[in-house]
Amino acid sequence: MKPLRTLKYKNGDEQPAIGLGTWKSGKGEVTKAVEIALNNGYKHIDCAATYGNENEVGEAFEKVFGEGKIKRKDVWITSKLWNDSHKKEDVIPALKQTLKDLKLDYLDLYLMHWPVAFKKGVGFPESDDEYYSLEEVPIIETWEAMVEAKKQGLVKHIGVSNFSTKKLKDLISKTDEKPEALQVELHPYLHQNELLEFCSKNGINVTAYSPLGSGDRAESMKAEDEPSLLENPTIIKIAKKHGASAGQILINWAVQRGTAVIPKSTNEGRIKENLASSGFQLDKEDLAEIDQLDEHFRYVTGEFFVTKGNSYSNIYDE
Ligand code: NDP
Repeated sequence: MKPLRTLKYKNGDEQPAIGLGTWKSGKGEVTKAVEIALNNGYKHIDCAATYGNENEVGEAFEKVFGEGKIKRKDVWITSKLWNDSHKKEDVIPALKQTLKDLKLDYLDLYLMHWPVAFKKGVGFPESDDEYYSLEEVPIIETWEAMVEAKKQGLVKHIGVSNFSTKKLKDLISKTDEKPEALQVELHPYLHQNELLEFCSKNGINVTAYSPLGSGDRAESMKAEDEPSLLENPTIIKIAKKHGASAGQILINWAVQRGTAVIPKSTNEGRIKENLASSGFQLDKEDLAEIDQLDEHFRYVTGEFFVTKGNSYSNIYDE
């Protein structure tokens, strides 16, 4: 197999461009999915405390690394701090719980999942009094605790997720330790070129989430008349031209743009198919056609946990 493209970090570490997503991967199926992925060449797994399955993901790590053929040091593992642990005293305990669940002694990358702070123990708030305001728990407070986690060697790299250019600029202006990575929604309906350019200028590596359109979200999280990426006629046409699947075109596009990409699957065939996405090049015409698809559409709006009128209601600063 052709070596997979990687994203480089200042200390020489490399994040493989294609990883496995684990959001919505059920507890009964995620262990197997991660095992299949690792045994078939994946070297990057994306996790988060809020996915509720880190313990089961950890069972796969324990088994595969225990067998000895694949070494922990050769796999890039990301996890994310949930919104209810943003106070400085809560960050490292939350990270240690994630490490315990994943059965690891360090993470390659730890991300602040959202620029939003909930009260301790709140999974998804239902009222305004379940939030801390940005004055009560400023983002820089959470960030400095993540910097400390890195100093302690619990994580190799730190970054943020779901941040706008404005929020990144603001954080960078307040710290000597810039975020090294950003994870945001990116696909042909949401190119975010300005944000990508800002990250490139500031040495921030970008990972694209929901690259296939996140089709398995709960109905309550879906917008009416959501456009399908996998059934988009332009994507299907390009797929036919390259003898590839629609999913492979979407993943390949993300890799060609220089981002990492973390398609989720629990299906053995699709797990393998997704990793095999970068064996061909999209040409200029393909890229020009995909450029036409940008309609600034988000599948993941964050609205499901932002109540009207609180200090987070304009979460993407749009
Ligand atoms: P994706 O865009 O990856 O889509 C997943 C859906 O696509 C599933 O229904 C999956 O089904 C299906 N699928 C997978 N491969 C193929 C294929 N080749 N052809 C057709 N269908 C396919 O959705 P996600 O929203 O899960 O995003 C990916 C990952 O990004 C998450 O799992 C998570 O790790 C991360 N993420 C991070 C967020 C953040 O806030 N930082 C927010 C959202 C996602 P099946 O499993 O049956 O194959």
